[in-house]
Amino acid sequence: MNLLDYLPGVPDFPKPGILFRDISPLLANPAAFKEAITKLHDLAQSFDYTHILGVESRGFIFGSALALHANKGLIIARKPNKLPLASHREFYGLEYGKDSLEIQQSTIPKEARVLLMDDVLATGGTLIAADKLLRNAGFTVCGAITLLEIGALNGSTILKENGISNKTVLV
Ligand code: 5GP
Repeated sequence: MNLLDYLPGVPDFPKPGILFRDISPLLANPAAFKEAITKLHDLAQSFDYTHILGVESRGFIFGSALALHANKGLIIARKPNKLPLASHREFYGLEYGKDSLEIQQSTIPKEARVLLMDDVLATGGTLIAADKLLRNAGFTVCGAITLLEIGALNGSTILKENGISNKTVLV
């Protein structure tokens, strides 16, 4: 099965000039979703981690499925003003805009070794922000995994330059 067949590109979304990879067909196909989680698990096994950080919102979908599959804890990084006990916020630039993420330090075990998880790696800004957010709150980050990297944007290289070891299922 070629998982890319289940991640069709939608032109000019959410802004003109962006080819947006839609994960909905993959989620709607049980065999494709299962293969995606199995492959993410295979990649994740090379990291010594205790918790997965799912980045809102598509990182929640893959992060929670992977956490159950791998028997790991799930931590969530949310958009602003969603977490009742939010303690740390990090701003970042997106391929198509600006945003910020929050975590609540008090509900994450101090000894957590965290693997960052998102559906797509584009410019790397989101995962760099997630990494800073956790490190500023005193946690250990092991690395990052994604289902798909948009190769032309060199996200992988940018993550490495920022000291983040990453693996992706598809480029
Ligand atoms: P980055 O911060 O690496 O530039 O962008 C990655 C973030 O934007 C991820 O949270 C991801 O969900 C979202 N994103 C950027 N491009 C795409 C895309 O083509 N498809 C999907 N599903 N998400 C994207």
